[in-house]
Amino acid sequence: MTDHNESKEDDRLIIWFDIDNTLYSASSNISHAMGTRIHAYFLRLGLSHEDASELHLKYYTQYGLAVRGLTRHHDVGNPLDFDRQCDGSLPLEEMISYDPSLRKLFEDIDTSKARIWGLTNAYRPHAERVLRILKLDDLVEGLVYCDYLVKDFVCKPEPEYYEMAMNQANVRDPSKCYFVDDNRKNVDAARDLGWAHCVHFCEKGLEAMEGGKIKEIDDSREPGAAENDVIDITTLEDLRKVWPEIFKQPT
Ligand SMILES: [Mg+2]
Repeated sequence: MTDHNESKEDDRLIIWFDIDNTLYSASSNISHAMGTRIHAYFLRLGLSHEDASELHLKYYTQYGLAVRGLTRHHDVGNPLDFDRQCDGSLPLEEMISYDPSLRKLFEDIDTSKARIWGLTNAYRPHAERVLRILKLDDLVEGLVYCDYLVKDFVCKPEPEYYEMAMNQANVRDPSKCYFVDDNRKNVDAARDLGWAHCVHFCEKGLEAMEGGKIKEIDDSREPGAAENDVIDITTLEDLRKVWPEIFKQPT
């Protein structure tokens, strides 16, 4: 896998996969476990439970990620410490497992036409660990992640994040971009930038934790969100129907 701009101009399409709650189901409850750890981290900074909950939600809403608010407004020292204590301490091997049908889905993508990249708001070690457990790491050509070491690093759904992604993958033409993510705001932001084939992975009825709050997953939009042609799917297998042109044709 590559994470910097070493790829030559590549004419192929590019398929961007979000990782968390997209390549595995929200029923794994990993988002709950992450939320609990982030809350504990706030408490260790000396905040009360009440302030911790309030700031966790505020930073998530305002910055897309709690850690960005933490590094801006608190003395957290090394953000890698946050990563170690939160994502790094998750017992992922017990929470998610290899799914042969997902690997088959990736293998069935025609790599002469399209390349597969990860596009995550996590830091690199967590993303790579998930891909390894799911046995997809050898099928993913590149990874765009939030670099906690960069001051004021960007994340989805900020336009700069998608621009950074295109730069890293050396893509000029947004109409070549395919993207699937469980967060509708992330998908809409990509669509607004002209990414042509955007899909929302929506496990309706399950629960996920966002900003420290448990929320039922649904296909509702933010008030005032503009109409667009983003498609909802409930299983990644549906990508075969939605994006038939990127899969190997049966011989
Ligand atoms: Mg996600």
